[in-house]
Amino acid sequence: MKKGKIKAVRGSLLWFTGNPFVTAQSDCVTYEEDGLLIIQDGHIQASGPAASLLPALDRDVTVEHYPDHIIMPGFIDAHTHYAQMQIIGAYGKQLLDWLNDYTFIAEQAFDDGAHAAAMADFFCQELLRRGTTTAAVYCTVHPQSVDALFEAATQRNMRMIGGKVMMDRNAPDALLDTPQLAYDQSKALIERWHEKGRNHYALTPRFAPCCSMEQLDMAGKVRGEFDRLYVQSHLSENEAEVNWAGELFPDRSGYLDVYNHHGLTGQYSLYGHAIHLTAAEWQDVRDRGTGIVHCPTSNLFLGSGLFNLGAAMGGPDPVNLSIGTDVGAGTSLSMLTTLGEAYKVAHLKGYSLNAFQAFYLATLGGARALSLDHLIGSLDVGKEADFIVLDKRSTPLMAKRMDRVSSIEEALFVLMTMGDDRAIAATYIFGQKCYARAEG
Ligand SMILES: [Zn+2]
Repeated sequence: MKKGKIKAVRGSLLWFTGNPFVTAQSDCVTYEEDGLLIIQDGHIQASGPAASLLPALDRDVTVEHYPDHIIMPGFIDAHTHYAQMQIIGAYGKQLLDWLNDYTFIAEQAFDDGAHAAAMADFFCQELLRRGTTTAAVYCTVHPQSVDALFEAATQRNMRMIGGKVMMDRNAPDALLDTPQLAYDQSKALIERWHEKGRNHYALTPRFAPCCSMEQLDMAGKVRGEFDRLYVQSHLSENEAEVNWAGELFPDRSGYLDVYNHHGLTGQYSLYGHAIHLTAAEWQDVRDRGTGIVHCPTSNLFLGSGLFNLGAAMGGPDPVNLSIGTDVGAGTSLSMLTTLGEAYKVAHLKGYSLNAFQAFYLATLGGARALSLDHLIGSLDVGKEADFIVLDKRSTPLMAKRMDRVSSIEEALFVLMTMGDDRAIAATYIFGQKCYARAEG
């Protein structure tokens, strides 16, 4: 095959090669203050010091130069609902009332394919504007909502995970499927989208209280019929929900056991929240490698509780953790904002989340949680060139603050405390610049 044109991008390169929750930082972070990224055919061909790579570069290669900017892998948002963008900031409810009063109403509109297409297109653009290059996304119960998401992602060549919500009880009739319908529709969508281009399918039983045992059985059955299918759902978010799950599934030893019982945990699973897990459940999550997604802005907004980061990551055997915005209960699609809130939540639980750990979770840690780290999440040679350009001085106040910063770790911590979409100067997908902040 004929090789494509070479591109080069210059700036401060930063990426992770190991897990800073367990490994000394000097062994797991790569930082090149004046670095060069060389890209060909959507993949990273070289990454390292500009001084050593520039002399060997063909003279006709244009170098895009971002002085004083940080170039890092694109963010991975491991839990979000694109159908809930229009209910961000809906006032005054905790989880179960919030679902009934706001979410289930907004999601009914996705019966209309044109509405779904418009929202999916807007959603993908908003992700790029915030430096998110991959997301695990809940669609709605309607198959057309899944087509819309994957069509919008495919247009931008984004690596995207998504799936049709499965729910057959405890929601308005217009949003219910049946186990058989969920099976047929999910299977058709998997055949249409799973591992086609950069798309991946996630079986999406909304959460145990909205699914009958037959529905969860059906999800486990489909999972067994395909390779590398994801499962995404919610777990132990809110105390009333945990109690309700206990009443609905009296034969199970706890909420997590419901999902274990139906074969929906382990590798390729992503469970949002996990705030109220017991010690035995934490151990079970570790033993099976079940993915947990921490969604701090959502947990604060709905008053669900404070995620115990120390229990998840404090010991020698960290869980398979990633970070999610959980829009629309989450209040921002920005992973920078989300990392800043994760720091505060951890702080309230007696754990100090440092900047390297935080950015690891949003990049390589997320990729590992999704079992996609052989493709994305770092700037190592051979990886797909999904990366972002961060502007450390994106507001006048941040610029003043950065004047007093003396290390890259400090700069990253300021970025996650003060940064938002304005700090994303550019977003590249598979080597192509797909978003550039308007200068003005
Ligand atoms: Zn959610």
